[in-house]
Amino acid sequence: MERTVTHEKPLDAAWSVAWIRGAAAAVAEHRDELTELDRAIGDGDHGINLDRGMHAAVAKLDSQDNVGGAPSPPASVFKATATSLLATVGGAAGPLLGTAFLRASRACDVDVLSSQDVATLLGEAAVGVQMRGRAEVGDKTLVDALAPLVTAFDATDGSLHDRAAAAVTAAEAGAESTKALQARLGRARPLGEKSVGVPDPGAVSLARIAAVVAAHA
Ligand code: ADP
Ligand code: MG
Repeated sequence: MERTVTHEKPLDAAWSVAWIRGAAAAVAEHRDELTELDRAIGDGDHGINLDRGMHAAVAKLDSQDNVGGAPSPPASVFKATATSLLATVGGAAGPLLGTAFLRASRACDVDVLSSQDVATLLGEAAVGVQMRGRAEVGDKTLVDALAPLVTAFDATDGSLHDRAAAAVTAAEAGAESTKALQARLGRARPLGEKSVGVPDPGAVSLARIAAVVAAHA
């Protein structure tokens, strides 16, 4: 069969694995920044937690690659990521992000994702986070970055790259907006007014991950 050469990468299992590797690299790069933010308004483990979880996810994907040979569809890549995060990340972020990836994995039962499938899986991930954590926009959590990310991706026409770039801009603005907010959920909540002035670690990690993943889109 002849191969079709296009400039757009197919959004297949290999792309999904690269997506997770990019996210892991972003977390590793920003680990100390995330830990510092969480030290200021939490318990100082967010960067360490996420780094451990993403390492475990990449290791799991590596071992599946070696065993399987044939690439598995994107859903199984996101599911393996979800189970790694759920198993290895303590604290609030593990179950929340684990649920996000699990829900995303259920929303993409195809070998090659379309840009619209990506919109759907992002939307499902956000629903998963909100169902599990019950946070609304304005509570100073990662939802303040994730909700605008999903809205911007949905609302933007054009290539995957354009949609992803708009989503990153929105996530970064959302993360920045948490600086002025007083926490209504999570470990920062008891700090009350003292939580104002520091951005939410989970919102910042989401924006950092999004930036790296979008650059790869
Ligand atoms: P922990 O707070 O248990 O130490 P982490 O430090 O890994 O867990 O993650 C903290 C981040 O989790 C917060 O910055 C916030 O973004 C997010 N978070 C906490 N509670 C919730 C919630 N109910 N819904 C959404 N996100 C939340
Ligand atoms: Mg913490």
